[in-house]
Amino acid sequence: MFNILMSLIIAMVCSCIISFLQLCFYRMKSGFSLVDILFKPSHCEHCQSKINAIFLIPIYGFLISEGSCQYCNESISLKYFIAEVLVFVMAFFYVLNSLYSIS
Ligand SMILES: [Zn+2]
Repeated sequence: MFNILMSLIIAMVCSCIISFLQLCFYRMKSGFSLVDILFKPSHCEHCQSKINAIFLIPIYGFLISEGSCQYCNESISLKYFIAEVLVFVMAFFYVLNSLYSIS
């Protein structure tokens, strides 16, 4: 049970990291300054509204927002969700396998 819980926590952290890296790459590509890349609060690409913290949680945020902005209803690209899910699943099984091989 501990191994599964630990794997879930580490997989969620990895999913948060990949979500942040995707944000950084998007902002670098869009020509943001270094300060804005790292510290500007997340906002909708279309209506520029600040995104509520609950919607920033990887995977869960996309699911509860049904893949669209809560203000302008414009759809959010599925590639962010897919990357977060893939990293979550890979990290979960990698960590779980590692923990079981140690014990
Ligand atoms: Zn919007």
